[in-house]
Amino acid sequence: MFDLLKEDQEVIDAPGAGPIVVKRGTVEFNNVSFGYLPEKLILKNVTFTVPSGKTIALVGPSGSGKSTIIRLLFRFYDVETGNILVDGQNIKTVTQDSLRSAIGVVPQDTVLFNNSIRYNIKYGRLTATDADIIEAARGADIHDKILTFVDAYDTQVGERGLRLSGGEKQRVAIARTLLKAPQIVLLDEATSALDTQTERNIQESLNRMCANRTTIIVAHRLSTIIHADEILVLQDGEIMERGKHEHLIGQDGIYASMWRQQLDK
Ligand code: ADP
Ligand code: MG
Repeated sequence: MFDLLKEDQEVIDAPGAGPIVVKRGTVEFNNVSFGYLPEKLILKNVTFTVPSGKTIALVGPSGSGKSTIIRLLFRFYDVETGNILVDGQNIKTVTQDSLRSAIGVVPQDTVLFNNSIRYNIKYGRLTATDADIIEAARGADIHDKILTFVDAYDTQVGERGLRLSGGEKQRVAIARTLLKAPQIVLLDEATSALDTQTERNIQESLNRMCANRTTIIVAHRLSTIIHADEILVLQDGEIMERGKHEHLIGQDGIYASMWRQQLDK
């Protein structure tokens, strides 16, 4: 059932109800509470739904639990309280492989394999052709210096992945996700290590990829998420505010004050 995730949607024949369309890629957090250590809760009763193909944004101060939500969905840790569903299935009941093949994540701190750039990009889709890899690299604005590594990968197996700067690693992770084009995309401050111009160059390919996929985006700069279908404002592991950008700036709350602060800069 879960490996059908590759399809955007599927028509199934429901007994007595005729054909119904099942959307793929829905994400649900139901009353999730979580702590890395038993004595300290990091997420408190977090509930939200990302409908298939929609984008939600997570914002909030550093340490509020945004990355923890991403890590839980990718199952770096298991939740004991509440549950996380993908397409209605508890992620604890599906294999890591099928979960991770449906989800692409650009983590906040990218760790690459100790291998060539090409290997690291291709890890998103092992059957990719050279042309696919180069296209993904371009989409991530990987400049010629790194592309040379890609082109010369056969002789470059070594520590390339480890020798890159933070921003270069981030671009490799973005290229990997572009190549994988997964059903569900998780972007955790995916462009935070990049300069403004590079960020702009990449934003377009990210937007294109996310347009009809289920997306969770953690953003520091609010201007990048104003079009999200829903914005969740976290503080100390709790969702304090939620809604669309226009709604939230009209309220006298955390989001409106974050927005004003960023406008002032
Ligand atoms: P955000 O992404 O919103 O900045 P995180 O989800 O990364 O916040 O972290 C939330 C809280 O969990 C922070 O207080 C952080 O110190 C703590 N934390 C993160 N990872 C771990 C870990 N592996 N062990 C213990 N505490 C952690
Ligand atoms: Mg974070």
